[in-house]
Amino acid sequence: MDEQAAGWGDAGLNLEEIQLLSAQDLRKLYEDSTGLSWEEELGSAWLNKNHGSFNIFYKRPILTASAYVNLSQKASILSQTHCQICNSSAPIVNLPLRIKPESYQYLNSAKKKAFRSAIRHRFKSQMSFEKFNGDVCISVIFVCSLSRPKKDVDNLSKMLLDSLKNIVIEDDGRVVHLSVARLDHSGDEEYILIRIANSSLNDNSNVAANKMIHSWGGMPELKIEDYL
Ligand SMILES: [Zn+2]
Repeated sequence: MDEQAAGWGDAGLNLEEIQLLSAQDLRKLYEDSTGLSWEEELGSAWLNKNHGSFNIFYKRPILTASAYVNLSQKASILSQTHCQICNSSAPIVNLPLRIKPESYQYLNSAKKKAFRSAIRHRFKSQMSFEKFNGDVCISVIFVCSLSRPKKDVDNLSKMLLDSLKNIVIEDDGRVVHLSVARLDHSGDEEYILIRIANSSLNDNSNVAANKMIHSWGGMPELKIEDYL
């Protein structure tokens, strides 16, 4: 393993001797320390209280560009950056879409349909491409020319995600993580770089107590009904 372990806030610990704890280890730690069987509420409370000395954080080296040869290389490298949230595994699809990014808000229905068809054509012409059938992580770089009016990234994303439905993913409800960036430049070229991968975000195998246990400390919930 080339990952270097480190305790959280435990300066002075010997990094070589640290044992990283998994979610299963946390449950076992509770059981061994208290003599009780694992239970989510009590276990969470105990682990939170004793959390400081546990080795559940680790450092891992990340390859990051220090400089780019040109803007297209910057766009390409940024679009292929590993997602730190989803812990993705293969297959990972990195695809340049040579189409001008369009805003969902400003296209009429005929143009929306044409945009979807163009995206469908691009993916269908990709050899060895199969539809993702589980949760996915999508990362998009919109390369936009400053010579055109600026479009907001949420509307650019909406048009693209809408076009991926039934082609790349079952429906956009399967997108559990979306990373979007707009790279503006003074030239004319406009295109989209997309990275799609499986996401294990919601498998929660790294969580000891698989439920939300949150104390709001008396903070009231904001209800829109109260603001109508
Ligand atoms: Zn992700």
